[in-house]
Amino acid sequence: MEKNECNDFACHKHGNISLRGRSFKGTVIKKFPKRVVIEFERTFYVKKYERYAKKKTKLHARLPDCMSKEIDIGDYIEIKECRPISKIIHFVVVDKVSKEKGDGKGKVKEKEDGEGKLGGDE
Ligand SMILES: [Zn+2]
Repeated sequence: MEKNECNDFACHKHGNISLRGRSFKGTVIKKFPKRVVIEFERTFYVKKYERYAKKKTKLHARLPDCMSKEIDIGDYIEIKECRPISKIIHFVVVDKVSKEKGDGKGKVKEKEDGEGKLGGDE
């Protein structure tokens, strides 16, 4: 693999798409040719209950050819906003943050900051 380029117009390295706006990090939950779906959790304050609640957000992002090999389901990646590429895609994958963050083995201690208590009583 000497050629480390792609001719994807939406590639942030080889294409000429301009990135702007927000960026998010999340876990890849689905992978298609040229597209991934990432999911991440965000916390927001619910005034009525005076506590924080978690909400999962899914976003579709363009996956350039040159990155499709290194990114797989379960990876933690970073995406950035760009102009809408298609009806549901307004983001492109820009980076891989880390490999799967623990699939059961070993102790995966994520900071939960006590939010866990809220989950049960929906
Ligand atoms: Zn590329």
